[in-house]
Amino acid sequence: MASIFSKIIDGTIPAYKVAENDRFLAFLDINPLAKGHTLVIPKIEVDYIFDLDDDTYQALFAFAKKIASAIDKVSTSKRIGVSVIGLEVPHTHIHLVPINSIADLDFTKDRVKITAEEFGQIAASINAEL
Ligand code: 5GP
Repeated sequence: MASIFSKIIDGTIPAYKVAENDRFLAFLDINPLAKGHTLVIPKIEVDYIFDLDDDTYQALFAFAKKIASAIDKVSTSKRIGVSVIGLEVPHTHIHLVPINSIADLDFTKDRVKITAEEFGQIAASINAEL
């Protein structure tokens, strides 16, 4: 069965897309730790990031670097934190999260509530910096 992220790739499930090319997609996490929390995924469906072929792995991080740089430009946070967890969705994804302290990367903490309108604005503002 296709992962929820494959359904986002094929448009079956909506998402606030930040950037896309033929191999990778970046979109806002629906339950963000901070405004601008973005997920970066390969379009090929591989559960565990360290099972990716080397080329896809390296290109995924190169794509994530560009997205992080764009998030940085629209964020007031100190920097963009990077995490890979993958315990919830079995489709490789990199979390990019604006952070000011190590506590901001605590995935057990309460998530930020964002309106649909604000999600759209954040995605568009990050995209505009690419
Ligand atoms: P992980 O697998 O790394 O533990 O977490 C999966 C992440 O994907 C979570 O932060 C969760 O909020 C996010 N997520 C799960 N389902 C969806 C979805 O349908 N759309 C979006 N945009 N994010 C999702």
